[in-house]
Amino acid sequence: LWAEVAEQFKKRSAPTAYETWVNTAKPVALDGNQLTIELPSALHRDYWKSNKMDQQLVEYAYQATHEDIQPVLVLEEELKRPVAKAPASTTANSDTPTFRKDIQLNSKYTFDTFVIGKGNQMAHAAALVVSEEPGAMYNPLLLYGGVGLGKTHLMHAIGNKMIDDNPSTKVKYVTSEAFTNDFINAIQTHSQEEFRQEYRNVDLLLVDDIQFFADKEGTQEEFFHTFNSLYNDNKQIVLTSDRLPNEIPKLQDRLVSRFAWGLSVDITPPDLETRIAILRNKANADRIDIPDDTLSYIAGQIDSNVRELEGALARVQAYSRLKSAPITTDLVADALQSLNLTDKVTQLTIPVIMTKVANYYHVSVADLKGKKRVKTIVMPRQIAMYLSRELTDSSLPKIGNEFGGKDHTTVIHAYDKIADQLKSDDALQKEIGDLKSELQH
Ligand code: ADP
Ligand code: MG
Repeated sequence: LWAEVAEQFKKRSAPTAYETWVNTAKPVALDGNQLTIELPSALHRDYWKSNKMDQQLVEYAYQATHEDIQPVLVLEEELKRPVAKAPASTTANSDTPTFRKDIQLNSKYTFDTFVIGKGNQMAHAAALVVSEEPGAMYNPLLLYGGVGLGKTHLMHAIGNKMIDDNPSTKVKYVTSEAFTNDFINAIQTHSQEEFRQEYRNVDLLLVDDIQFFADKEGTQEEFFHTFNSLYNDNKQIVLTSDRLPNEIPKLQDRLVSRFAWGLSVDITPPDLETRIAILRNKANADRIDIPDDTLSYIAGQIDSNVRELEGALARVQAYSRLKSAPITTDLVADALQSLNLTDKVTQLTIPVIMTKVANYYHVSVADLKGKKRVKTIVMPRQIAMYLSRELTDSSLPKIGNEFGGKDHTTVIHAYDKIADQLKSDDALQKEIGDLKSELQH
Protein backbone atom coordinates (compact mmCIF):
# COMPACT_ATOMS: atom_id res chain seq x y z
CA LEU A 1 0.00 0.00 0.00
CA TRP A 2 2.67 2.49 1.01
CA ALA A 3 4.65 1.85 -2.14
CA GLU A 4 1.63 2.71 -4.24
CA VAL A 5 0.86 5.81 -2.24
CA ALA A 6 4.46 6.96 -2.40
CA GLU A 7 4.45 6.40 -6.13
CA GLN A 8 1.47 8.70 -6.52
CA PHE A 9 3.13 11.39 -4.46
CA LYS A 10 6.21 11.01 -6.57
CA LYS A 11 4.25 11.50 -9.78
CA ARG A 12 2.61 14.62 -8.50
CA SER A 13 5.36 16.44 -6.69
CA ALA A 14 8.62 18.09 -7.50
CA PRO A 15 11.59 15.78 -6.91
CA THR A 16 12.92 17.74 -3.95
CA ALA A 17 9.50 18.01 -2.37
CA TYR A 18 9.12 14.28 -2.72
CA GLU A 19 12.56 13.66 -1.23
CA THR A 20 11.97 16.01 1.63
CA TRP A 21 8.45 15.21 2.69
CA VAL A 22 7.47 11.79 1.38
CA ASN A 23 10.66 9.82 1.25
CA THR A 24 11.36 10.67 4.86
CA ALA A 25 8.00 9.27 5.98
CA LYS A 26 7.83 5.70 7.27
CA PRO A 27 4.71 3.59 7.46
CA VAL A 28 4.86 1.85 10.82
CA ALA A 29 1.52 0.17 11.30
CA LEU A 30 -1.77 -0.60 9.63
CA ASP A 31 -4.50 -1.28 12.19
CA GLY A 32 -7.81 -1.86 10.51
CA ASN A 33 -8.03 1.16 8.28
CA GLN A 34 -5.72 3.28 10.39
CA LEU A 35 -2.34 3.82 8.83
CA THR A 36 0.29 5.13 11.20
CA ILE A 37 3.02 7.10 9.54
CA GLU A 38 6.15 8.22 11.27
CA LEU A 39 7.62 11.59 10.32
CA PRO A 40 11.08 12.79 11.31
CA SER A 41 10.03 16.09 12.84
CA ALA A 42 7.14 18.27 13.83
CA LEU A 43 8.08 20.49 10.95
CA HIS A 44 7.34 17.61 8.62
CA ARG A 45 4.02 17.04 10.26
CA ASP A 46 3.12 20.72 9.91
CA TYR A 47 4.06 20.56 6.30
CA TRP A 48 1.98 17.46 5.71
CA LYS A 49 -1.01 19.09 7.33
CA SER A 50 -0.71 22.54 5.85
CA ASN A 51 -0.28 21.11 2.38
CA LYS A 52 -3.12 18.68 2.91
CA MET A 53 -0.83 15.78 2.15
CA ASP A 54 -2.78 13.63 4.57
CA GLN A 55 -5.87 14.20 2.48
CA GLN A 56 -3.97 13.40 -0.68
CA LEU A 57 -2.84 10.23 0.99
CA VAL A 58 -6.45 9.23 1.68
CA GLU A 59 -7.18 9.68 -2.00
CA TYR A 60 -4.17 7.76 -3.22
CA ALA A 61 -4.79 4.95 -0.77
CA TYR A 62 -8.38 4.78 -1.93
CA GLN A 63 -7.25 4.62 -5.53
CA ALA A 64 -4.95 1.77 -4.62
CA THR A 65 -7.20 -0.26 -2.34
CA HIS A 66 -10.71 1.18 -2.47
CA GLU A 67 -10.46 1.22 1.28
CA ASP A 68 -11.04 4.27 3.36
CA ILE A 69 -7.60 4.54 4.91
CA GLN A 70 -7.10 7.09 7.67
CA PRO A 71 -3.56 8.29 8.22
CA VAL A 72 -2.23 9.10 11.67
CA LEU A 73 0.92 11.20 11.61
CA VAL A 74 3.29 10.57 14.47
CA LEU A 75 6.80 11.62 15.31
CA GLU A 76 9.56 9.27 16.25
CA GLU A 77 9.78 10.69 19.76
CA GLU A 78 6.11 10.14 20.30
CA LEU A 79 6.41 6.50 19.40
CA LYS A 80 9.27 6.00 21.81
CA ARG A 81 7.50 7.92 24.53
CA PRO A 82 3.85 6.94 24.38
CA VAL A 83 2.95 9.22 27.28
CA ALA A 84 4.85 12.19 26.03
CA LYS A 85 1.80 14.43 26.06
CA ALA A 86 2.68 17.51 28.06
CA PRO A 87 1.00 17.59 31.45
CA ALA A 88 -1.75 20.14 31.94
CA SER A 89 -0.28 23.51 32.75
CA THR A 90 -1.60 23.47 36.31
CA THR A 91 0.79 20.67 37.19
CA ALA A 92 3.68 22.05 35.21
CA ASN A 93 6.51 23.39 37.29
CA SER A 94 9.80 25.03 36.57
CA ASP A 95 11.48 21.65 36.32
CA THR A 96 9.49 20.79 33.25
CA PRO A 97 12.12 20.34 30.58
CA THR A 98 11.79 22.25 27.36
CA PHE A 99 11.89 19.73 24.60
CA ARG A 100 14.16 21.21 22.05
CA LYS A 101 12.79 18.80 19.50
CA ASP A 102 9.34 20.24 20.00
CA ILE A 103 10.61 23.54 18.80
CA GLN A 104 10.23 22.54 15.19
CA LEU A 105 13.26 24.32 13.85
CA ASN A 106 15.09 22.93 10.90
CA SER A 107 18.70 22.64 12.06
CA LYS A 108 19.97 23.19 8.53
CA TYR A 109 18.44 26.63 8.35
CA THR A 110 21.19 28.62 10.00
CA PHE A 111 23.03 31.85 9.32
CA ASP A 112 26.04 29.76 8.34
CA THR A 113 24.24 28.09 5.50
CA PHE A 114 22.61 31.29 4.28
CA VAL A 115 24.29 32.92 1.30
CA ILE A 116 24.16 36.68 1.43
CA GLY A 117 23.52 38.55 -1.79
CA LYS A 118 21.98 41.72 -3.12
CA GLY A 119 18.36 40.75 -2.67
CA ASN A 120 18.61 39.50 0.88
CA GLN A 121 21.43 41.34 2.63
CA MET A 122 19.13 43.73 4.46
CA ALA A 123 16.91 40.91 5.62
CA HIS A 124 19.93 38.91 6.69
CA ALA A 125 21.41 41.81 8.63
CA ALA A 126 18.14 42.55 10.38
CA ALA A 127 17.67 38.89 11.27
CA LEU A 128 21.15 38.73 12.72
CA VAL A 129 20.60 41.83 14.84
CA VAL A 130 17.34 40.42 16.13
CA SER A 131 18.99 37.14 17.07
CA GLU A 132 21.64 39.03 19.00
CA GLU A 133 19.37 41.53 20.65
CA PRO A 134 15.95 39.99 20.75
CA GLY A 135 13.12 42.25 21.76
CA ALA A 136 15.32 45.31 21.71
CA MET A 137 15.77 46.69 18.23
CA TYR A 138 13.30 45.54 15.69
CA ASN A 139 10.11 44.25 17.16
CA PRO A 140 8.39 42.78 15.35
CA LEU A 141 10.70 41.92 12.50
CA LEU A 142 8.73 41.24 9.35
CA LEU A 143 10.41 39.57 6.40
CA TYR A 144 8.40 39.70 3.24
CA GLY A 145 8.86 38.63 -0.36
CA GLY A 146 8.08 36.00 -2.93
CA VAL A 147 8.12 32.28 -2.47
CA GLY A 148 11.37 30.37 -2.11
CA LEU A 149 13.56 33.37 -1.33
CA GLY A 150 14.74 32.35 2.13
CA LYS A 151 12.21 33.88 4.52
CA THR A 152 11.61 30.68 6.42
CA HIS A 153 15.31 29.92 6.37
CA LEU A 154 16.21 33.24 8.00
CA MET A 155 13.43 32.89 10.50
CA HIS A 156 14.69 29.49 11.63
CA ALA A 157 18.22 30.86 11.66
CA ILE A 158 17.19 33.42 14.26
CA GLY A 159 15.69 30.68 16.41
CA ASN A 160 18.63 28.34 15.98
CA LYS A 161 21.13 31.04 16.85
CA MET A 162 19.27 32.16 19.95
CA ILE A 163 19.11 28.59 21.20
CA ASP A 164 22.78 28.03 20.42
CA ASP A 165 23.70 31.18 22.30
CA ASN A 166 21.46 30.32 25.20
CA PRO A 167 20.01 26.84 25.34
CA SER A 168 17.29 27.81 27.77
CA THR A 169 15.74 30.24 25.29
CA LYS A 170 12.15 29.37 24.61
CA VAL A 171 11.35 29.51 20.95
CA LYS A 172 8.10 28.77 19.25
CA TYR A 173 7.83 28.41 15.52
CA VAL A 174 4.48 28.06 13.76
CA THR A 175 3.01 28.68 10.41
CA SER A 176 -0.02 30.90 10.55
CA GLU A 177 -2.10 27.86 9.60
CA ALA A 178 -0.71 25.88 12.51
CA PHE A 179 -1.50 28.78 14.79
CA THR A 180 -5.04 28.81 13.45
CA ASN A 181 -5.42 25.06 13.88
CA ASP A 182 -4.02 25.16 17.38
CA PHE A 183 -6.39 27.90 18.28
CA ILE A 184 -9.44 26.14 16.87
CA ASN A 185 -8.35 23.00 18.63
CA ALA A 186 -7.99 24.87 21.89
CA ILE A 187 -11.53 26.14 21.63
CA GLN A 188 -12.90 22.74 20.81
CA THR A 189 -11.12 21.08 23.70
CA HIS A 190 -11.63 23.98 26.11
CA SER A 191 -7.93 24.39 26.53
CA GLN A 192 -7.51 28.06 25.71
CA GLU A 193 -5.46 28.51 28.84
CA GLU A 194 -2.87 25.98 27.70
CA PHE A 195 -2.89 27.58 24.30
CA ARG A 196 -2.07 30.95 25.83
CA GLN A 197 0.64 29.48 28.01
CA GLU A 198 2.19 27.91 25.00
CA TYR A 199 2.25 31.03 22.89
CA ARG A 200 2.81 33.73 25.45
CA ASN A 201 5.43 32.00 27.50
CA VAL A 202 8.22 32.24 24.99
CA ASP A 203 11.23 34.44 24.31
CA LEU A 204 10.86 34.26 20.58
CA LEU A 205 7.73 33.67 18.58
CA LEU A 206 8.14 32.94 14.89
CA VAL A 207 5.01 33.03 12.76
CA ASP A 208 5.53 32.03 9.16
CA ASP A 209 3.39 33.17 6.23
CA ILE A 210 0.99 35.47 8.00
CA GLN A 211 -0.79 36.17 4.72
CA PHE A 212 -2.88 33.12 5.59
CA PHE A 213 -4.42 35.05 8.46
CA ALA A 214 -6.48 36.78 5.78
CA ASP A 215 -10.17 36.29 6.40
CA LYS A 216 -9.69 34.53 9.73
CA GLU A 217 -11.40 36.92 12.14
CA GLY A 218 -11.26 34.85 15.29
CA THR A 219 -7.67 33.85 14.82
CA GLN A 220 -6.66 37.44 14.18
CA GLU A 221 -8.35 38.45 17.39
CA GLU A 222 -6.41 35.83 19.33
CA PHE A 223 -3.17 36.67 17.59
CA PHE A 224 -3.67 40.32 18.44
CA HIS A 225 -3.69 39.42 22.12
CA THR A 226 -0.75 37.07 21.75
CA PHE A 227 1.16 39.82 20.03
CA ASN A 228 0.38 42.41 22.69
CA SER A 229 1.30 40.10 25.50
CA LEU A 230 4.69 39.24 24.01
CA TYR A 231 5.38 42.76 22.91
CA ASN A 232 4.68 44.17 26.34
CA ASP A 233 7.08 41.64 27.83
CA ASN A 234 9.76 42.69 25.32
CA LYS A 235 9.73 39.29 23.77
CA GLN A 236 10.82 39.09 20.18
CA ILE A 237 8.30 38.45 17.42
CA VAL A 238 9.34 37.58 13.89
CA LEU A 239 6.85 37.30 11.06
CA THR A 240 7.06 36.44 7.41
CA SER A 241 4.64 37.17 4.63
CA ASP A 242 4.55 37.07 0.89
CA ARG A 243 3.52 40.73 0.84
CA LEU A 244 3.23 43.78 3.05
CA PRO A 245 0.56 43.51 5.75
CA ASN A 246 -1.52 46.33 4.29
CA GLU A 247 -1.81 44.26 1.14
CA ILE A 248 -3.20 41.24 2.95
CA PRO A 249 -6.94 41.19 2.39
CA LYS A 250 -9.08 41.47 5.47
CA LEU A 251 -6.23 41.77 7.89
CA GLN A 252 -7.46 43.92 10.75
CA ASP A 253 -6.09 47.46 10.76
CA ARG A 254 -4.86 47.15 14.29
CA LEU A 255 -2.70 44.19 13.29
CA VAL A 256 -1.45 45.99 10.20
CA SER A 257 -0.41 48.93 12.31
CA ARG A 258 1.24 46.79 14.97
CA PHE A 259 3.22 44.88 12.40
CA ALA A 260 4.57 48.21 11.24
CA TRP A 261 5.89 49.10 14.71
CA GLY A 262 9.10 47.25 14.11
CA LEU A 263 10.99 46.75 10.91
CA SER A 264 9.74 45.37 7.63
CA VAL A 265 12.35 44.21 5.15
CA ASP A 266 11.76 42.68 1.79
CA ILE A 267 13.71 39.93 0.11
CA THR A 268 14.01 40.07 -3.64
CA PRO A 269 15.14 37.34 -6.03
CA PRO A 270 18.88 36.68 -6.06
CA ASP A 271 21.00 38.03 -8.90
CA LEU A 272 23.13 35.73 -11.00
CA GLU A 273 26.19 35.90 -8.78
CA THR A 274 24.20 35.07 -5.69
CA ARG A 275 22.51 32.20 -7.46
CA ILE A 276 25.89 30.81 -8.41
CA ALA A 277 27.14 31.19 -4.86
CA ILE A 278 24.07 29.44 -3.47
CA LEU A 279 24.49 26.57 -5.89
CA ARG A 280 28.18 26.27 -5.10
CA ASN A 281 27.44 26.14 -1.39
CA LYS A 282 24.77 23.58 -1.83
CA ALA A 283 26.91 21.45 -4.12
CA ASN A 284 29.73 21.53 -1.58
CA ALA A 285 27.44 20.68 1.29
CA ASP A 286 25.95 17.76 -0.60
CA ARG A 287 29.33 16.75 -2.01
CA ILE A 288 28.15 17.05 -5.56
CA ASP A 289 30.99 17.21 -8.02
CA ILE A 290 30.15 19.88 -10.54
CA PRO A 291 32.33 22.24 -12.57
CA ASP A 292 32.03 25.97 -12.11
CA ASP A 293 30.87 26.76 -15.60
CA THR A 294 28.12 24.19 -15.21
CA LEU A 295 27.00 25.86 -12.00
CA SER A 296 26.91 29.16 -13.83
CA TYR A 297 24.85 27.56 -16.53
CA ILE A 298 22.24 26.29 -14.06
CA ALA A 299 22.15 29.63 -12.31
CA GLY A 300 21.59 31.28 -15.68
CA GLN A 301 18.70 29.00 -16.50
CA ILE A 302 16.85 29.16 -13.18
CA ASP A 303 16.22 32.67 -12.03
CA SER A 304 12.90 32.46 -10.27
CA ASN A 305 13.80 31.50 -6.73
CA VAL A 306 16.17 29.55 -4.55
CA ARG A 307 13.87 26.63 -3.98
CA GLU A 308 13.72 25.98 -7.72
CA LEU A 309 17.44 26.41 -7.93
CA GLU A 310 17.89 23.70 -5.32
CA GLY A 311 15.32 21.59 -7.10
CA ALA A 312 17.24 21.92 -10.35
CA LEU A 313 20.46 20.85 -8.66
CA ALA A 314 18.75 17.82 -7.14
CA ARG A 315 17.33 16.99 -10.52
CA VAL A 316 20.71 17.26 -12.18
CA GLN A 317 22.23 15.04 -9.53
CA ALA A 318 19.54 12.42 -9.96
CA TYR A 319 19.94 12.56 -13.70
CA SER A 320 23.67 12.09 -13.46
CA ARG A 321 23.18 9.04 -11.23
CA LEU A 322 20.61 7.62 -13.58
CA LYS A 323 22.96 7.96 -16.51
CA SER A 324 26.05 7.11 -14.48
CA ALA A 325 27.62 10.13 -16.10
CA PRO A 326 29.52 13.02 -14.55
CA ILE A 327 27.78 16.35 -14.32
CA THR A 328 28.67 18.50 -17.29
CA THR A 329 26.93 21.41 -18.94
CA ASP A 330 25.60 19.10 -21.63
CA LEU A 331 24.14 16.74 -19.09
CA VAL A 332 22.58 19.64 -17.24
CA ALA A 333 21.04 20.97 -20.44
CA ASP A 334 19.48 17.56 -20.96
CA ALA A 335 18.31 17.22 -17.40
CA LEU A 336 16.69 20.62 -17.33
CA GLN A 337 15.19 20.46 -20.75
CA SER A 338 12.04 18.78 -19.58
CA LEU A 339 11.45 21.65 -17.20
CA ASN A 340 10.50 23.68 -20.26
CA LEU A 341 12.60 26.61 -19.35
CA THR A 342 12.72 27.68 -22.93
CA ASP A 343 9.07 28.74 -22.92
CA LYS A 344 9.84 32.34 -22.33
CA VAL A 345 10.58 33.88 -25.70
CA THR A 346 11.63 37.38 -25.00
CA GLN A 347 12.68 39.47 -27.93
CA LEU A 348 16.15 40.69 -27.18
CA THR A 349 17.12 44.03 -28.67
CA ILE A 350 20.51 45.49 -29.44
CA PRO A 351 20.15 48.38 -26.95
CA VAL A 352 19.40 45.86 -24.20
CA ILE A 353 22.52 43.92 -25.12
CA MET A 354 24.63 47.08 -25.21
CA THR A 355 23.41 48.15 -21.81
CA LYS A 356 24.10 44.77 -20.29
CA VAL A 357 27.57 44.52 -21.80
CA ALA A 358 28.41 48.10 -20.85
CA ASN A 359 27.43 47.45 -17.23
CA TYR A 360 29.26 44.19 -17.14
CA TYR A 361 32.54 45.73 -18.29
CA HIS A 362 32.04 49.07 -16.58
CA VAL A 363 32.10 51.13 -19.72
CA SER A 364 29.39 53.40 -21.12
CA VAL A 365 26.96 52.65 -23.92
CA ALA A 366 28.28 55.78 -25.61
CA ASP A 367 31.73 54.19 -25.64
CA LEU A 368 30.33 51.09 -27.28
CA LYS A 369 28.82 53.27 -29.96
CA GLY A 370 31.87 55.47 -30.22
CA LYS A 371 35.20 55.16 -31.97
CA LYS A 372 37.73 54.94 -29.16
CA ARG A 373 40.44 52.41 -29.88
CA VAL A 374 41.59 51.64 -26.34
CA LYS A 375 41.54 47.96 -25.56
CA THR A 376 39.26 48.27 -22.51
CA ILE A 377 36.56 49.61 -24.80
CA VAL A 378 37.27 47.81 -28.05
CA MET A 379 36.86 44.41 -26.45
CA PRO A 380 33.44 45.07 -24.86
CA ARG A 381 32.31 46.70 -28.10
CA GLN A 382 33.25 43.61 -30.08
CA ILE A 383 31.60 41.37 -27.53
CA ALA A 384 28.41 43.40 -27.72
CA MET A 385 28.47 43.10 -31.51
CA TYR A 386 29.10 39.40 -31.27
CA LEU A 387 26.16 38.95 -28.90
CA SER A 388 23.93 41.12 -31.06
CA ARG A 389 24.57 38.84 -33.97
CA GLU A 390 24.17 35.68 -31.89
CA LEU A 391 21.09 36.63 -29.97
CA THR A 392 19.03 38.78 -32.32
CA ASP A 393 17.81 38.44 -35.88
CA SER A 394 19.26 41.79 -36.83
CA SER A 395 21.17 42.07 -40.09
CA LEU A 396 24.82 43.05 -40.07
CA PRO A 397 24.14 46.56 -41.42
CA LYS A 398 21.47 47.07 -38.79
CA ILE A 399 23.89 46.06 -36.05
CA GLY A 400 26.53 48.38 -37.47
CA ASN A 401 23.99 51.15 -37.53
CA GLU A 402 23.02 50.65 -33.90
CA PHE A 403 26.65 50.82 -32.90
CA GLY A 404 26.97 54.45 -33.94
CA GLY A 405 26.73 53.94 -37.69
CA LYS A 406 29.61 51.54 -38.27
CA ASP A 407 30.16 49.61 -41.44
CA HIS A 408 28.89 46.04 -41.58
CA THR A 409 32.44 44.78 -42.23
CA THR A 410 33.38 46.09 -38.78
CA VAL A 411 30.66 43.92 -37.32
CA ILE A 412 31.86 40.85 -39.22
CA HIS A 413 35.39 41.50 -38.12
CA ALA A 414 34.29 41.81 -34.49
CA TYR A 415 32.18 38.69 -34.68
CA ASP A 416 34.95 36.58 -36.21
CA LYS A 417 37.53 37.85 -33.80
CA ILE A 418 35.45 37.00 -30.72
CA ALA A 419 34.34 33.65 -32.15
CA ASP A 420 37.96 32.79 -32.77
CA GLN A 421 39.18 33.89 -29.36
CA LEU A 422 36.39 31.94 -27.69
CA LYS A 423 37.92 28.72 -28.87
CA SER A 424 40.90 29.06 -26.60
CA ASP A 425 40.11 31.72 -24.00
CA ASP A 426 38.45 30.20 -20.91
CA ALA A 427 37.91 33.52 -19.18
CA LEU A 428 36.18 34.94 -22.21
CA GLN A 429 34.02 31.85 -22.47
CA LYS A 430 32.86 32.36 -18.93
CA GLU A 431 32.18 36.05 -19.44
CA ILE A 432 30.14 35.45 -22.54
CA GLY A 433 28.35 32.58 -20.86
CA ASP A 434 27.43 34.88 -17.96
CA LEU A 435 26.27 37.61 -20.29
CA LYS A 436 24.20 35.24 -22.36
CA SER A 437 22.49 33.70 -19.41
CA GLU A 438 21.74 37.11 -17.94
CA LEU A 439 20.35 38.28 -21.23
CA GLN A 440 18.29 35.24 -21.92
CA HIS A 441 15.96 35.17 -18.95
P1 ADP B 1 10.52 31.12 1.61
O1 ADP B 1 10.18 30.87 3.04
O2 ADP B 1 10.89 32.54 1.35
O3 ADP B 1 9.48 30.62 0.67
P2 ADP B 1 12.63 29.26 2.14
O4 ADP B 1 13.25 29.90 3.32
O5 ADP B 1 11.77 28.08 2.39
O6 ADP B 1 11.83 30.31 1.27
O7 ADP B 1 13.79 28.88 1.11
C1 ADP B 1 13.65 27.91 0.10
C2 ADP B 1 14.90 27.07 0.03
O8 ADP B 1 15.96 27.87 -0.45
C3 ADP B 1 15.35 26.55 1.36
O9 ADP B 1 15.87 25.26 1.19
C4 ADP B 1 16.44 27.50 1.79
O10 ADP B 1 17.40 26.88 2.61
C5 ADP B 1 17.04 27.90 0.47
N1 ADP B 1 17.56 29.27 0.47
C6 ADP B 1 16.86 30.40 0.26
N2 ADP B 1 17.66 31.48 0.30
C7 ADP B 1 18.90 31.01 0.54
C8 ADP B 1 20.18 31.64 0.69
N3 ADP B 1 20.33 32.97 0.58
N4 ADP B 1 21.24 30.84 0.93
C9 ADP B 1 21.10 29.51 1.01
N5 ADP B 1 19.93 28.85 0.88
C10 ADP B 1 18.84 29.59 0.65
MG1 MG C 1 8.49 29.99 3.81
